[in-house]
Amino acid sequence: MQSEELEKMFKTRSLLNLATQSLSLSLILFMGISPAFAAEQYMINGKIVTRSVYDAVVLLKQGTAQIKANQNKEAVESLQKAESLAPELHEIQFYLGLALAKTGRSEEAIQHYEKARQLNPGFPSVWLNLGGLYQSEGDIGKALEIFNQYLVRFPRDPAAKNVASLVKGLSKEASMRSGANVSDALKTDYLEDVTRQGMVRWSPEKMPLKIYIASGEGVQGYKPQWTEVLKRSFIDWQTASGNLVSFEFTDNKEGSNIQCSWTDDPKALKNIAELGETELYSNSKGLVRGTIKFLTVAIAREMPVTDNRMRFIFLHEIGHALGMPGHTTTPSDAMFYSIGITDDWRTLSERDSNTIRKLYTHPGPSITYKKEL
Ligand SMILES: [Zn+2]
Repeated sequence: MQSEELEKMFKTRSLLNLATQSLSLSLILFMGISPAFAAEQYMINGKIVTRSVYDAVVLLKQGTAQIKANQNKEAVESLQKAESLAPELHEIQFYLGLALAKTGRSEEAIQHYEKARQLNPGFPSVWLNLGGLYQSEGDIGKALEIFNQYLVRFPRDPAAKNVASLVKGLSKEASMRSGANVSDALKTDYLEDVTRQGMVRWSPEKMPLKIYIASGEGVQGYKPQWTEVLKRSFIDWQTASGNLVSFEFTDNKEGSNIQCSWTDDPKALKNIAELGETELYSNSKGLVRGTIKFLTVAIAREMPVTDNRMRFIFLHEIGHALGMPGHTTTPSDAMFYSIGITDDWRTLSERDSNTIRKLYTHPGPSITYKKEL
């Protein structure tokens, strides 16, 4: 593939629109020809550097290109080599953290972001990524601490406004979670966690539920393949439920049970920590209508909207729409309260499957419920 084409694809998919403001090192290999110093000299940005630093920067460039091409494992290798040569370069620590985060090695990623932050605290992306990573690991206290420090340090950063809303949403979640128990994660289902605010279901007579998916045409950031990923996510919940819930897709909005739509305006959501929003309407017999809005644009360039990320949001919001209004503290659950940096394709877990089955075989009555989730 031509590099221009790659660049274009990279932009349109917003795969990794990373902050590169500090990565302005240009490499110039200068061959010294002075007879007294026939040895090679290595220069970066006009400064003479050691051979190790030069090699490390070459590896750093290779690593960032690999991240761009979504070759994250290869990027980890390049950047680990770079780090062994020049651990003092904050760019190397930053990108090594990013590559590790993308391959799901979150704990190691945090260590390298922490190093990058110590080496250069003046780089907003480090704070944003680190906060996002703590958030995705379920360490909401640490995430809030980092995001709040970011807001103090960089009040004029383009992402600051969105991060302020994120902090608001996370604080709300943190106060709701304060009674949660660590041993919750050991249970085989999480029905109790997600129905604390009451239980509500679709009645069996309504199956298959009619799903209407609005066109995303003209919505900034929308990718046509997301409609297919969304349908697949509904079907995966159906399978996980053992067909206790089932779906049928329809073009008739008025006659549908669940209406899905797209928005590129973060203000359209009450809590952007979620990147999606589900509203449910019920009567005494249970649920009668649900609407789900999906945000198509990144709220910070460090957390780009990829297919994998959308997939997690789809599974999560559908979970809300099926009658699970609450959240869990276990990152592998579809109903975990936050989305992560890890860019992988999510599947429904045993716990997800057990929970939806338990909800739809539960003997209790449906409780009237109308509230934003
Ligand atoms: Zn949620």
